[in-house]
Amino acid sequence: MAELSLSNIVKRFGGFEIIHGANLEVKDGEFVVFVGPSGCGKSTLLRMIAGLEDITSGELQIGGRVVNDVEPADRGIAMVFQSYALYPHLTVEENLSFGLRMNGNPKADTERRVRHVAEILQITELMKRRPKQLSGGQRQRVAIGRAIVREPQVFLFDEPLSNLDAELRVQMRVEISRLHKQLGTTMIYVTHDQTEAMTLADRIVVLRAGNIEQIGAPLDLYDDPANQFVAGFVGSPKMNFLKAVVVETQPGRAVIALESDTKTRLTLPVADPIEAGAKVTLGIRPEHFVDADTGDADLAVTIDVAEHLGNTSYIYATIGPEQLIIERPESRVAGNRDTLTVGLPASRSFLFDGAGKRLR
Ligand code: ATP
Repeated sequence: MAELSLSNIVKRFGGFEIIHGANLEVKDGEFVVFVGPSGCGKSTLLRMIAGLEDITSGELQIGGRVVNDVEPADRGIAMVFQSYALYPHLTVEENLSFGLRMNGNPKADTERRVRHVAEILQITELMKRRPKQLSGGQRQRVAIGRAIVREPQVFLFDEPLSNLDAELRVQMRVEISRLHKQLGTTMIYVTHDQTEAMTLADRIVVLRAGNIEQIGAPLDLYDDPANQFVAGFVGSPKMNFLKAVVVETQPGRAVIALESDTKTRLTLPVADPIEAGAKVTLGIRPEHFVDADTGDADLAVTIDVAEHLGNTSYIYATIGPEQLIIERPESRVAGNRDTLTVGLPASRSFLFDGAGKRLR
């Protein structure tokens, strides 16, 4: 059993509280990804799970056992870092077997495990090389292999792909996903990268300034973000936010006007009562604009830059002082133009109050 349980985990450095009481249940075999802006506490949380940082208060269980005071080596975890930390003077084979040899694991078993891992990661032909004779991707594979040979109950990854170029990142991302399917081991993964989070995770944990903002399956966070912060953090390119004001309220509904173009009005259902005059933010994802006259309101924008990618176009545009990104099928925006009118569908629009709380 390798489920993980964090109850009210707090971390203080000196007098400064960095993690403010994190609660999370990770199921056996689950792939959980921590995301959030720089400095929000992702790595600190992961390092507490690994045992590399003390837990100030709260309880951490791995496989049903409280491990707050258990040494890292005895927690049944293996960690892969963004710097590969391979031993430069050892061959790939020696790097892979090092930990097992140090623990006095029987030689035949060590050899079998190392061979098996090399096959899984397709590095068998690199076994006699030293780290400096490997490419970045190959080194990262060896680093992951070194974690796998230990047959841990839980893998922890701290931005393992951030030193790789774009193409290799994609390749390794797919490999890590395949590995998770193959091994079925619980994995916790820290990243800045949207796409890694969306594609790898069974569930994503979104952190902000030491608080967990939302936990959910990638598409649940995309479709149903808890607040403006999560809405802006999940999805690429980011959701557009346009300042608006409530001009009229009806039971269960609000009519809003955009600040940058007060002629643009949209009627949206709202769960909580809201007063006329309230300042709000309209949220709409780049991919959710529709053709003019087919939405619930039209929006005329000035095009700054149009990127034509063949299958789709990204339009970087402005409306008054506000900037937005619009993604449209290529055929709808081909050619050089200065302006574009697109439709806003109410069904795809989000609404947030001044504090970023979701109103719809
Ligand atoms: P990044 O994405 O930039 O790596 P992160 O979300 O992983 O950021 P952490 O590295 O966990 O963030 O850091 C969280 C906060 O804790 C930051 O404000 C950081 O400055 C602070 N911090 C981290 N380690 C220490 C330490 N040893 N002493 C004091 N403060 C620390």
